[in-house]
Amino acid sequence: AKIVTDVVCPFCGTLCDDLEVKVTDDDKQILEVYNACVIGTEKFLHSQAKDRLKVPMKQDEEGNWSEASINEAVEYTAQMLAKAKKPLMYGWSSTNCEAQSVGGEIAELCGAVVDNTATVCHGTTLIAVQDVGVPSCTLGEVKNRADRIIFWGCNPAHAHPRHMSRYSIFPRGFFTGKGHKARKMIVVDPRTTDTAKMADIHMQIEQGRDYELLSALRVALRGAPLPEKVAGIPRETIIDAAETLKSGRFVVIFFGMGVTQSLSKNHNIDIAIMLTKDLNEHTKAAIMPMRGHYNVTGSGEVLGWQFGYPFSVDLSRGFARYNPGDSSSNDLLRRDEVDAVFVLGSDPGAHFPISSVKKIANLPSVCVDPHYTPTTAVCKLHMPVAFVGVEVGGCTYRMDAVPIHARKVVDAPEGMLTDEEFLKMVLKRIKEIKGVA
Ligand code: SF4
Repeated sequence: AKIVTDVVCPFCGTLCDDLEVKVTDDDKQILEVYNACVIGTEKFLHSQAKDRLKVPMKQDEEGNWSEASINEAVEYTAQMLAKAKKPLMYGWSSTNCEAQSVGGEIAELCGAVVDNTATVCHGTTLIAVQDVGVPSCTLGEVKNRADRIIFWGCNPAHAHPRHMSRYSIFPRGFFTGKGHKARKMIVVDPRTTDTAKMADIHMQIEQGRDYELLSALRVALRGAPLPEKVAGIPRETIIDAAETLKSGRFVVIFFGMGVTQSLSKNHNIDIAIMLTKDLNEHTKAAIMPMRGHYNVTGSGEVLGWQFGYPFSVDLSRGFARYNPGDSSSNDLLRRDEVDAVFVLGSDPGAHFPISSVKKIANLPSVCVDPHYTPTTAVCKLHMPVAFVGVEVGGCTYRMDAVPIHARKVVDAPEGMLTDEEFLKMVLKRIKEIKGVA
């Protein structure tokens, strides 16, 4: 056996790049995974599952499944996308940038709507950043400089398990030699999460009242009068939190879906960014979204280079339009505006409202995924592929928009295509069907 070092974990947006994986000498099997959290370890070990799907499966009208060849899978996908008036191409957050860019090319050729998981996650953050800009930094700066950390509407203890130990709370960095002892941690969450239990100040906010508390913190920073309670938090606690932030050398606000998808949505992030701006009058401050899928940031970057917008890009008129709420996946599905669905690198079957999932089930649909998922269960074709970050490398972007090259650790099962290879075959076939050079 041998050890592969500097392996990147293809699970969450923390994109830990210090993993070591013990593999057999023939590069076929993973024996052990070191340094990863339980979720990351499971991602590697699951690629070795005995019941892993190795051939494409198609579903007939009666719901019976049968095996298909790779050529049949390419043909079905190409015909579906080429003939649809307005296909939806959704997902992209759990694959590499190389595959994402081929997906964008197909979407343009077919007049598709191309959308990623930000549409139900940090899309509101992206809208806020377009509105007011963003003072941000890298996770390396957080580790080396930050001494005041806010987690607002997120629970890294469960969702990004090594975030606190690698970057934000525990590590001893260049100017943070005392580790967590010299850091103050503020958590804003209506629940007493495992992250909240570790906080110096836990503001147990009333659900959906984030905008008010963010405003109150801005007022407190100015030393202006506050009512006795805001969003369920006593005035003294708000003033204490504001003073704690002011007294730091470097404040970082991390925030998650508890604030991006609750009442006020993108306006919550507008004002969180304005609070960051205000804090810069007193000390140094930055703000960063806790991105979920390991390469959702990369999908936004790739769509940005290709079309100028980070998600919900509608190419059906031959040029890029962007209007979240109109051109976003759930709105299109529920209004019956798309006539085919292609999913890669995501599981809308598990995360979209049931009304949207029912629409997918009634449309021509393809899901490209190494796993069996609720999405593959409703799609007409399930195309299994190699695991990115385990069986094929590629470019990925961490939550702070730093690109990190994921490594290949073991060989994929024989004959198994990568996302990029499959997409390139589909693109070639679509060009033939459409008679494009
Ligand atoms: Fe993987 Fe995220 Fe765990 Fe790091 S924290 S090992 S990136 S799942």
